[in-house]
Amino acid sequence: MIGAHPDDCDLKGGGTAILYSKMGYAVKFLSVTNGDAGHHAMKGDALAKRRYSEAQEAGKRFGVTYDVLDNHDGQLMPSLEVRLQIIKKIREWDADIVIAPRPNDYHPDHRYTGVLVQDASYMVAVPAVAPETPALKKNPVFLYFQDNFQRPNPFRPDVAIDISAVFDQKIHALDAHESQVYEWLPWIGHYYEQVPPNKNDREKWIAKIWAVTITPAVRTSLEKWYGKERGGLAKHAEAFEICEYGAQPTDEDLKRLFPMLGK
Ligand SMILES: [Zn+2]
Repeated sequence: MIGAHPDDCDLKGGGTAILYSKMGYAVKFLSVTNGDAGHHAMKGDALAKRRYSEAQEAGKRFGVTYDVLDNHDGQLMPSLEVRLQIIKKIREWDADIVIAPRPNDYHPDHRYTGVLVQDASYMVAVPAVAPETPALKKNPVFLYFQDNFQRPNPFRPDVAIDISAVFDQKIHALDAHESQVYEWLPWIGHYYEQVPPNKNDREKWIAKIWAVTITPAVRTSLEKWYGKERGGLAKHAEAFEICEYGAQPTDEDLKRLFPMLGK
């Protein structure tokens, strides 16, 4: 999973990552920037270091490896240099699945991460590009994280994962991003005064703040993959849209690639 900042994959795909990890599959989170602009009272190297160690702790709690590229937060451009970094990372991981933001997100870093991964999607299989890292023999399946943006087209939940059973574990992992979930995001979102002063109350609080309402489209997708009853009961879900680039999976392929579907 590829995000712009060291907490993006966690928020959008953390539950799915936990389910993979519990089933014995290897998951990597990659942050394309080092997060050095994501705070109101800290910045630069000190912030990047703090966020790196938060990401490592979160990675442990999710059961994933967590890589952070040393590009500045808030300044990401869809350059050839960063495209090559991403191609290299996808190849080294020998990824079957790559999940990234859609390129119509509000945040320029998210948007360009979406573009960069799209730009890498074909090139990962081209041997003459970045020849120091062997090209992939098989193109991975690329998907997008869920978002609420409507233009030019709304997110389409091709796959929806019931994460209810691991929701508490996801919240516990998000809690590792202290500088974000308890400091920066409440500050920029104007709800800083709601942060519980007592540490013991904090995870319950972020569970409320970060629970994503299941949209009718996601519910329909859950019912498709889990059956009416189980799909209808799921309390928490993460959904993904298939990108038109990269390998195009059939429903059978998706069941193989997302072995937690229906379980
Ligand atoms: Zn972000």
